[in-house]
Amino acid sequence: MSESLPAMNLLYNSAVFVHVLSRLTVHFTPEMMTRPVCIYCRQTDSHVAFRGRDHVIPECWGRFSPNNMVLHGMVCDDCNGYFGRTIELHLGRDTIEGAFRFQHGILSEGDFIGRRVRLRIATDHAWAGLIVRPKPPKAKDRRVDYEPVTQVGFRDKTTGRRFYFELWELPSKAELERDGFDAVKDIIYYGETPQALEELLHALAQRGITITNPKEYEAQGTNPTPVEGEVTIDPVICRGIAKIAFNYLTHTQGVDFVLSFDFDAIRRFIRYGEGDFKQFFEPNAPPILYEDRRFDIQTTDGHMVVVGWMRRIEQLSCWVSPFNLHTYMIIFCRRFAGIWRPIKVGHHFAVPSGDVTPMFSVPTRLLRR
Ligand SMILES: [Zn+2]
Repeated sequence: MSESLPAMNLLYNSAVFVHVLSRLTVHFTPEMMTRPVCIYCRQTDSHVAFRGRDHVIPECWGRFSPNNMVLHGMVCDDCNGYFGRTIELHLGRDTIEGAFRFQHGILSEGDFIGRRVRLRIATDHAWAGLIVRPKPPKAKDRRVDYEPVTQVGFRDKTTGRRFYFELWELPSKAELERDGFDAVKDIIYYGETPQALEELLHALAQRGITITNPKEYEAQGTNPTPVEGEVTIDPVICRGIAKIAFNYLTHTQGVDFVLSFDFDAIRRFIRYGEGDFKQFFEPNAPPILYEDRRFDIQTTDGHMVVVGWMRRIEQLSCWVSPFNLHTYMIIFCRRFAGIWRPIKVGHHFAVPSGDVTPMFSVPTRLLRR
């Protein structure tokens, strides 16, 4: 064993070592050849179990068959459990895509929380600005209903428009007056339950706001109400999207490739939240599909994931578009130093049918008409 190189070192330095390998004798023990290494924490199975399986697309965004794209023996149980309890929970319950999953018949993964997605009734409606959240539709009816959350609305004295606040963000009377709101009259409030309402009124009183002639919000008719969204993308959501991208890279390129040191920074970002998320994440990438990009349309409402090289083949990137709502770009590494290989691969995940089909790229000169 004296002249053997540890397996990890060889993987770390594959590009550097490639020209000297002919002069070295490298012995792998049988365990090194077969022992799984976790693609996130790099632990091997002598320390940790690999019983679980990890879906490339989290189950909260749909189930796919027969090609369900699952990683077996590649993500250790520690990491798998950690992801399930943390970032994947937020992907399903606290993203704009999580809000849209009801529309696609995905109901099983719990209610929508929406701390990172603020949905409001659109500006051209009588209840403009009211904060709402989606609720699961009944049975097979795919129409998504929205229900108001506990909130209070104050009128802007200049524009006459009302602005709504939830309990956790209530301003004081002085702040409202400073910002030009009427803190005395024309206040509208809504409580999801009698207790929530009581808590709201108590919190308002503590901030010097007494409601004298309140109006309570009442739901109106059954007409569709337009809703607008404000989305907060924070490192937790970035890590969730980056994990989909990294799982997809692993599924299509294999474990040996993704264990390269080139991907250590993104690996640690996904697993431990280390590093600046802007280094890995671009939230406003153009649509993946050419037709969508060109005509500003949405030709599918399934998920798409595409991996390829950029910037003179140094930067390996992935485009993830859940429900084809929005496209996020994930940068695996900006300057790849390993052994280069051609990578251009993409898949479409149909929701709710569960079909997974490969995507093909066509030179744009052939598409232009
Ligand atoms: Zn692990």
